[in-house]
Amino acid sequence: MYARVIVDIAHGSVDKIFEYSCEDSVKAGCRVKVPFGGRVIDGFVMEVSDKSEYPPSKIKPVSAVYDEPPALVPECFSLMQSMAKRYRVPKAVVLRLFIPSEMRLGKVREIYKKRVKFISDIPLSKSAAKQKQFLEFLQAEKDVDYTISCDQFGRGAVNSVIEKGGGELYRVRVNRSPLGGEEEREQGKTLTPAQVDALNSIKSSVQTVQLIHGVTGSGKTEIYLNAIAAAVKQGKTAIFLVPEISLTPQMLSQLRRRFGGGAAILHSGLSAGERFDEWWRLRTGEARIAIGARSAIFAPLENLGVIIIDEEHDSSYFSESSPRYSTLDIAKMRAEYNGCKLILGSATPSVESYALAKKGEYNLITLTERINGRPMPEIEIADMRKEVKRGNNSAFSQALRDELKDTLDGGRQAIIFLNRRGYSHTVICQECGYVATCEHCDVSLAYHSEENCLKCHYCGTKYRMPKACPECGGLHLRYGGTGTQKVVADLKSAFPQARILRMDNDTTSGKEGHYKILKSFGDHKADILVGTQMIAKGHDFPSVTLVGILDADMSLHFSDYRAGERTFQLITQVSGRSGRAGEAGRVVLQTSCPENYILRYAVNYDYEGFFNNEIALRETTQFPPFSLIVRVMVTAEEDRFALEALKKVWFDIDGLRQNRPEKFIFLNKMHSPIKKIQGKVRYQVLMRLTDDGLLEEIYDISVKHSSDNALVYVEENPANLS
Ligand code: ADP
Ligand code: ZN
Repeated sequence: MYARVIVDIAHGSVDKIFEYSCEDSVKAGCRVKVPFGGRVIDGFVMEVSDKSEYPPSKIKPVSAVYDEPPALVPECFSLMQSMAKRYRVPKAVVLRLFIPSEMRLGKVREIYKKRVKFISDIPLSKSAAKQKQFLEFLQAEKDVDYTISCDQFGRGAVNSVIEKGGGELYRVRVNRSPLGGEEEREQGKTLTPAQVDALNSIKSSVQTVQLIHGVTGSGKTEIYLNAIAAAVKQGKTAIFLVPEISLTPQMLSQLRRRFGGGAAILHSGLSAGERFDEWWRLRTGEARIAIGARSAIFAPLENLGVIIIDEEHDSSYFSESSPRYSTLDIAKMRAEYNGCKLILGSATPSVESYALAKKGEYNLITLTERINGRPMPEIEIADMRKEVKRGNNSAFSQALRDELKDTLDGGRQAIIFLNRRGYSHTVICQECGYVATCEHCDVSLAYHSEENCLKCHYCGTKYRMPKACPECGGLHLRYGGTGTQKVVADLKSAFPQARILRMDNDTTSGKEGHYKILKSFGDHKADILVGTQMIAKGHDFPSVTLVGILDADMSLHFSDYRAGERTFQLITQVSGRSGRAGEAGRVVLQTSCPENYILRYAVNYDYEGFFNNEIALRETTQFPPFSLIVRVMVTAEEDRFALEALKKVWFDIDGLRQNRPEKFIFLNKMHSPIKKIQGKVRYQVLMRLTDDGLLEEIYDISVKHSSDNALVYVEENPANLS
């Protein structure tokens, strides 16, 4: 037999299919070792055939076959072709997405437990008391653990009984399951009429993509779980994506109670061994539901019955490293391949998705009410300009102070949101205006009070906090811009009795970092939770009745066409944490531009109004979805390499424009907003195109000019334009 193999090298020059001879046992999807250029390397078998395309004398045999069922499912070859073509990456790079990296690199192995099976009663001499005891035990139990038996009866005795034929040693695969002990199983809830309607609408719809626009707390999760259960009941499989699974322990425990071992969880918080085992449970069919963040879209499942993307607007669904795919695009490909539905859900759908739903390309399902009929929490705007005029220079408005006091007096909980960690955002010399910046990145350094140091939030480098200005020697260094650490310090002095927890990237390291903080807050071991973006998502704390949003407008000022959309989404999501059960919730939104229309729509929970306004704006200014933004990034260690590559890229793209001027709305080359990150200088060719007609050529140009000296890559409608 002959195997067509893709070698596991991420380089365009070997992005071909090679042929090797092999045993009959080799199947498509197997991983093999093959001789290649004087070495032996790993490869993936794409297909097997009894005919060769080359003269047999030229064909080398496969060196070895991995001792495992084929790792790749047939569907991934079709996906591989589409993705390699779409994102211009070598096929091996795409295939790597389908396999846990631990497995490719051989870092983890399956673990086996040894067991002993009873075979027959054998004669033993009187003196062999221990052997006799073990044999009796084995005969009674029929099947026992080898290691435990050795501890109990002595290794020598156990081995002798096995050697003499009393028992047989064998191995079983052990799963390192992150699910832990089986939790009590839970049946589905009785659905509300709105949930029943939604499920019926999904079932009878002719469109592949279903968009559920449902306010926070409208019961979207229960709809997802029912759709998954229906797929499993038909003998099919399911993929359920959530933005940051390690942040949502409640969601995990809900899934465990509903599906038990039938669900496997893939996320970065697991140990390598756990991830590996969970992946194999999916591959072997033991688990049929894959749950995870972005990368779980590559779960090794066949016969998909449904794919779900929760919080579909979330920017984590864009990959920021090669291949720079949009999870939604991959999900569409998989849904089409399997002929199954793709369900997107959000309280604040992305403008692009909602526009497609309105056009009728997606089936739109709207849930306007919270499950328990509770109103959405009332949002009060605090105008920070007035506060300053009144002489209040603190991070908290009077309104927020009053509400906090009420909440604490009433024994309830509050969440304070601020999207900036550390103590201060910058350190500025008041005499000469010097700002401390990172040596490797073109960004200012944040002061961290706990470690008394300056940190770069882009590369993580730490610097000693200077006693005096390194430029002028001035002693008056001022902290600019409040971070979470300062908020905690200020809260402590304003409310000395309050128990305060902080949740941000600095406090959540370690495997269970997030979980510990959330659990502690959930158990009411603290009164106030201060945190960044990561507290905005999905949490359900019944006794939280107050949410304070300290810097609502910060994201408004980003020079990004999605700034308004992001701000609207953030306010809606964070506000949704308040008043989820029992008492009505309140929200205090602090801002320096209260008249901003985005804030107005957010305060009224008016998604439709926000959308109509936003889509009209995008249409007149020709931004997505009325155009495609393409950024070709050029990065290099040295300026001259970057500039050289930039020049070539620019020349070619400008050539495209001369041929097809009607396709270009905007085209320019420039420094990226952040000129340097991790020691690499950054330039870009930025364009807005009328459609994706020139995309292939632009990818070609980037591949052509990318080299060891300068990396060139393409981003489509990038989630982050810094
Ligand atoms: P969403 O995902 O839309 O924000 P959730 O799915 O978290 O909303 O639902 C909000 C609350 O309502 C949860 O506490 C959930 O357990 C509860 N819930 C959902 N569906 C039902 C139902 N059919 N009957 C009773 N409670 C429900
Ligand atoms: Zn840095």
